[in-house]
Amino acid sequence: MNRSTIFLSAILLIFFGLTQYPSPADGQMQTKIFISVDLEGIGGVGSPLMASSGGKDYETAREYMTEEVNTVVHTIFERMPNAEILVNDSHGDHQNILHGQLHPKVNYIQGRIKPLGMVQGLDSSFDAVIFLGYHAKAGDPDGFLAHTGSGSVKGLWLNGIEVGEGGMNAALAGSIGVPVILVAGDSAATAELGQLLGSETVTTKTAETPSSARLLHPQVVRSMLMDATNTALDRLKNNGFEPLDLGESVEIKMRFASTTHVDILQSIPGVSKTDGFTIRYLADDMDQAYRLIRLMYSFIRT
Ligand SMILES: [Zn+2]
Repeated sequence: MNRSTIFLSAILLIFFGLTQYPSPADGQMQTKIFISVDLEGIGGVGSPLMASSGGKDYETAREYMTEEVNTVVHTIFERMPNAEILVNDSHGDHQNILHGQLHPKVNYIQGRIKPLGMVQGLDSSFDAVIFLGYHAKAGDPDGFLAHTGSGSVKGLWLNGIEVGEGGMNAALAGSIGVPVILVAGDSAATAELGQLLGSETVTTKTAETPSSARLLHPQVVRSMLMDATNTALDRLKNNGFEPLDLGESVEIKMRFASTTHVDILQSIPGVSKTDGFTIRYLADDMDQAYRLIRLMYSFIRT
């Protein structure tokens, strides 16, 4: 072997050595995961009082909520120590998770006044979204504490698809190319969102009535969450999820409990009413749609 052959062999070795180097394992990946956490669907929460600040056992519900987040977060960090996780408190006044007990490596958003509400902080740099503690859309007869945004909303349609909070949040995520990989909540929520999104699901309880639930023990729920998080991360690695795509412009139809609410909303340019209880608005994109919907149900009250 002469000098130039040795040189060429060395070059080839380096080239193939580099190109055949195994792709980074989970541990080296800079995966970014966004977790939105509501309370009604958290395991162990079985009465309206538990979901209401100041109500009986609300403090216990906060602990269950925090532990569910920690379970998912620990599972992610076990596989991806460099993952970046943003947790957005998404129930009531958005001040429920016990921050001091939350995994110290996560970033946490607290407080209700935020235009993107349950998906505040989410942008296209994220790889995946997880919904914990979710409930079904307004009017679902099988849902536990089912509602959409607030009690004043009786129905919400985006480009003709009826959605609740989960569908609306997933549509915002989908519009920037981010899929929802895992949904946990009551059986009506996981049926609704599992079908709409194709996500992994964990059913934490089944409604006996709209305000009572047959509960799985919180420890059982956490163990199911661990398994489902692992399955979801495996699927994510293999590009196994599709972001929800509603198209570019978004037609909002929103039905309210009172005609007064609808009449007040006529003050917003572009909002029209299709009947006494229902408004219509054509938004340029999902971001615009989301901000307007949140304004209409959360910040304009009658
Ligand atoms: Zn809630």
